[in-house]
Amino acid sequence: MTPSGRLLARILAAVAANEGDVKSARLSAQRAQAAQAGRAHGPLGYGYDEDQRIIAAEAEVVREVAQRVLDGETLYSIAADLNDRGVATPGSGRWDARRVERAVGRRDRPEVVEVIEAARRDAVVTAAVFARLLRRAGGTPALCTASWVRDQPWAEHVMSGDHGVDDSTVARLLGAAGISADRSFWRAANVRAMVRRGSLCGWREFSPGQRGGYGELVSPGDWAPILSKEVTESIRRITDRPSSRRGRDPKYLLAAILKCGKCGSSMAGSPTSNGGYRYACSKQPGRPHTCGGLTIAGPQTDAIVSMAVVDVVAEAKVRSSAIRRRSGAGAVAAESEIAEIARLRKHYGSEFAAGRLHQDEWDVLREGWAIRQRDAERKLGQWAPSLETVLSDVPRKRADIETWWTTAPMRQRREIVRTLIESIEIAPRGKSNNRFDDSRIGDPVWRA
Ligand SMILES: [Zn+2]
Repeated sequence: MTPSGRLLARILAAVAANEGDVKSARLSAQRAQAAQAGRAHGPLGYGYDEDQRIIAAEAEVVREVAQRVLDGETLYSIAADLNDRGVATPGSGRWDARRVERAVGRRDRPEVVEVIEAARRDAVVTAAVFARLLRRAGGTPALCTASWVRDQPWAEHVMSGDHGVDDSTVARLLGAAGISADRSFWRAANVRAMVRRGSLCGWREFSPGQRGGYGELVSPGDWAPILSKEVTESIRRITDRPSSRRGRDPKYLLAAILKCGKCGSSMAGSPTSNGGYRYACSKQPGRPHTCGGLTIAGPQTDAIVSMAVVDVVAEAKVRSSAIRRRSGAGAVAAESEIAEIARLRKHYGSEFAAGRLHQDEWDVLREGWAIRQRDAERKLGQWAPSLETVLSDVPRKRADIETWWTTAPMRQRREIVRTLIESIEIAPRGKSNNRFDDSRIGDPVWRA
């Protein structure tokens, strides 16, 4: 009757109830609900404005990131490059008149201030000069050309010299050029979430309690896609592989796995003033639906979930020895096929870059690789790393697993938890005292 014992009992009951049945029942209920609701859903996210129209600068970034992911580049290095180039991040980074005013007041980004002043003042600026100013201020290079500037609705005013444009127009101009309003940064995680979104390929996705990029693609929408559905599906498979997520080491075992029982948002870990840590639903700019009204102590929650996970891992080790013999060979072949395609992409990519390949030839090659890659990935059948891959370093005996768990790197422990558990809902605090109340930890939602 220890707290972990109670959770374990619930977990084992869920396992015993046959994961397959539970999962498929849950999915069909979700599909029905999504179909019925018609899911007019909210904003389409990065790449689109409020009226579901494509934002050219963002679409450019989407296509570039998608291609780089398909070409095997890591999310981490893509994020670093986007930051180096000053590409605006999703959600945050939007300009409005107030931010334009503030940027001029602070003058900590002189290149941006120069653009703002050029747009505001009554002076003649040529399209070429203005394009150069935009690029220097961090505008998307492929966009900020003289001909693009000439095509913009504000161009006439900026270049005519009779009067400058107002600050809300300046704000739109900076946004359209791909210049970020603030200094928020790309990380592997937001690159991944951005490029996985179903809306980018024109499909609605249904993802209860999560933001875009995790749900199933349920029905085609009526907005213009930026990527093809095939590309989005490939990207999702690639970014589900654990190796694509390498970046900074995670700090908190259950960050983003715990969900706020009040609003459904992901809970994040953060240090507390007494040297410990906690998980909290925390309000953040750009996340208006987050309630910010729920926390739970970190160490106790980690300990309870850990002990239960160790037990389930011990169970799984017993079962996986039987599975391994069946699925091994095919998976290895598919993995080496994918590695081979990555090698070919790299080799012919440099040939193409050096001008030794014609565009048509390059397109044909890429098409062929995409087909081979899709086949290999289908064979690999992995929308998540398989349990046996994740558990390969883990010892077999229960006692050894327990010892291993206390010393294993956070990344590896998190990967195991993530592979087993999609989410755990944390209920609001009862009216009781300050004692840690383990009954607030809900039943884990299991992955297939
Ligand atoms: Zn909340």
